[in-house]
Amino acid sequence: MLIDGMPVVGAGEPFSVINPATEDIICQCNMASTEQLDQAVAAAKRAYPAWSQTSDAERKRLLHEIADRLEQNADELARIIVQEQGKPLSLAQVEVGAAAGWTRYNAELEIPEQVFENSDTRYITAHRKPLGIVASITPWNWPLMIAIWHIMPALRTGNTVISKPSGLTPLNTLRLVEIINEVLPKGVVNVVMGEADIGNAISSHIDINKVIFTGSTPTGQRILSNSANTLKRLTLELGGNDAAIVLPDTDINQVAESIFNTAFLNMGQTCAAIKRLYVHESQYEEMCKVLANLASNQVVGDGLNPATTFGPVQNARQYQLVSELVEDARRNGGHIVCGGEASSEPGYFYPPTIVSNVSNGVRLVDEEQFGPVLPLISYSQIEDAVRMANSCDFGLGGSVWGSDLELAETVACQLECGTVWINKHAEVLPHIPFGGCKLSGVGVEFGVEGLLEYTQLQVINRHK
Ligand code: NAD
Repeated sequence: MLIDGMPVVGAGEPFSVINPATEDIICQCNMASTEQLDQAVAAAKRAYPAWSQTSDAERKRLLHEIADRLEQNADELARIIVQEQGKPLSLAQVEVGAAAGWTRYNAELEIPEQVFENSDTRYITAHRKPLGIVASITPWNWPLMIAIWHIMPALRTGNTVISKPSGLTPLNTLRLVEIINEVLPKGVVNVVMGEADIGNAISSHIDINKVIFTGSTPTGQRILSNSANTLKRLTLELGGNDAAIVLPDTDINQVAESIFNTAFLNMGQTCAAIKRLYVHESQYEEMCKVLANLASNQVVGDGLNPATTFGPVQNARQYQLVSELVEDARRNGGHIVCGGEASSEPGYFYPPTIVSNVSNGVRLVDEEQFGPVLPLISYSQIEDAVRMANSCDFGLGGSVWGSDLELAETVACQLECGTVWINKHAEVLPHIPFGGCKLSGVGVEFGVEGLLEYTQLQVINRHK
C-alpha cells in the first residue's frame, strides 16, 4: 500500500491476485488493518491544509504532470491491467489512454463562478470549497480508468484522497498511486487494500467527508447506510441492466456491429453495456443471425496474445454467474444461438453468447449478467418494448436504434434511465455528466456537474 508517501505492507489478512486467463497467482498481498486505514486518513488530514490552499494554476500543472507520467508508463500499466483484469492488450491500452485524457480534462476544468443576485441591496455569490478527505472505492472491470474518474476531480477541487481498489484488481491502482506520489506532496493521495471490513470502516469513518463509489447496488446500499451517522457526501455509480430497443424497419446490417461491440465491450463487464436487446418481431431472426455471426468472428484467449479479441471473464464468481444465467435461460425455453459452453481449459473463458426466445421474467433478462451473454427479446408494439425496458429496478443507460430519428427521440424520452443514446450505446465523455436513476445510483460524474460533487457550496450574501 502507499500511506503518507511511503510503501507499507498491509497488516491484515493475506489474499492472492489471480490472472483470469491462467488462474495463476500473480501476486500475494495483504489487506490493511483498520489502524492502517486510520494512519492513511491521518496522513490525508495533515496534507489537506496545504493542498487545499494550492493555487488553481499549480493544481492544473500538477495534474498535467501526472498525465505525462501516465503516458510515459502506459505500456507497463496496460500490461498490469491485462494480467490482473484479463482484457485484450489493445483494450487495456485504450483504458490507459482514457485515464491520461481524463486527467488532462480535469486539469483544465474550471470551477464556475456564480452570482445569484447583484441588485441595489444585495450581492450574493456562490463559493465552492473542497470537502476535505475523499475516499474512492473502485470495482474490477475498468480499474484504472475508474480510479482516475474518482481521484482527479477530487484533487482538482483541493481534496485529499484515500483510494481503495477492488482486491481482484489492485495492482494497477497501486502503480497509479505510486506515479501520482512522484508528483504530489506526500499524504495527498494514499492507497489501502481491503474488502468489506475496510469498506465499512471507510464509509463510517468520522474524518472522511465523501465517498465516491463505483460498484454493485448492494454494496452501494451498504455504504449509504454506513455513512448515515457522519452525513457523508456520496456519489454512487451502481449496477445497470441497460435495455436497447431496435425500432421496426432498422437496417440491421448497419447497426449490428455497433450493437455487438457495445453489448460485449470488455467481455460485457461494463456498467453501461447493452444487457437486454429488444428487437421488433419482423427483424428478430435476422438480428439473431447477424449477431451470432459477429460473435463467431471473435478470437477468445489470453489478452497478452496479439491475436486475441476477446478475453476471459475477470473472476470465478462472475464466470459462475454467467454460466448459471445461461443454464437457467436454457431450462426456461431459451435458445442458445451461439456460445453457451464454458471452456474446459484453465482460465475463466466464456465465449460471446447470444440467447433468443427469452423475455422479461427470465433471470438472464431481469438480472444484471455483467458478462459475455446477450439476451434478445422480441416485441410487436413499441409501447410493449418501452414497458419491458422500464420494467426494471435499474436505470443507468438505455438506447434506441433506428432511421426515424424523431421516433427514436420520442421513445428515448420515455426510457427511465440516466443516459439514453440514439444509434449508439455506452459512450461516456469527460465533459458530459453520467449517472444513474432508480437503483443505479446517486449523483453524477464528469463535466462541471460531476466536479461540483467534490465541493461544498457556500453562499456569501453581502449587504449593499
Ligand atoms: P462490488 O460492489 O462487489 O465491489 C466494488 C468495490 O466495493 C470493491 O472495491 C470492493 O472491495 C468494495 N466493497 C465490498 N464491500 C464493501 C463494503 N461493505 N463497503 C465498501 N466497499 C465495499 O462490485 P464489483 O463486483 O467490483 O463491480 C461490478 C458492479 O459494478 C456491477 O454491478 C457494475 O454494474 C457496477 N459498475 C457500475 C458502474 C457505474 O458507473 N454505474 C461502473 C462500473 C461498474
